[in-house]
Order: sequence, then C-alpha cells, then structure tokens
Amino acid sequence: MPTPVLTEARRLPEASRLRLTWSDHHVAEYPYDYLRGWCPCAGCQGHTGQIRYQPPARPVTATSIQPVGNYAISIGWSDGHGTGIYRYEFLREICPCGACATAGDTVEG
Ligand SMILES: [Zn+2]
Ligand SMILES: [Zn+2]
Repeated sequence: MPTPVLTEARRLPEASRLRLTWSDHHVAEYPYDYLRGWCPCAGCQGHTGQIRYQPPARPVTATSIQPVGNYAISIGWSDGHGTGIYRYEFLREICPCGACATAGDTVEG
C-alpha cells in the first residue's frame, strides 16, 4: 500500500496540537511537544541512524509549517528550531491516535 498523502495540516493553538488529515481519511492530532520530541534532524538525533523520542526541555508551539516536496513537512518551533523534515511515512509511524497506537497489539491475537 502506498504511503498516504497529507491533505491538510492545521494548527490548533488552543490545544497545542497539530491536526493532520490524510488521503486515506485518517485524522489525528499530534501534541506539539510530542512532535518536537520526535524531530528527526541530525542536530536532535545525532548520527546513530535511529530516531528516538527526546522530550523538549520546555513546552513549544509550532510557529510555521512548510510543505517539503510532496513527501514531507517542515515545522518551525517557538524555541527557534526548524531544521527537522517530517516525512509522511514517519508521521504515520509515530501517529499517537488510539487506532494506530493499538494496531501493533492486535498481531498477538
Ligand atoms: Zn531537530
Ligand atoms: Zn493514527
């Protein structure tokens, strides 16, 4: 199955979340701190080849969102950071919604 395409990225400032809507009709809300902690750039992750969740030192807000080609978005943060490229594939992997978070658990059945 091809990676779904992001059709809308909307900031929800009051909830400190980013709502992503996908071409397969999936909709999920990502807390800003959660997304910031998953920043995949080398500055945040080093060169281990693994991406780990690294919680931000203090709460952040998303100040800008830019499309990168048709495969990713880059997010500018209130702490001045903005070099992370969040690929669609990656965003779906870390999707925090209930349906995605429990998907792995159903394999054990
Ligand atoms: Zn980063
Ligand atoms: Zn999801």
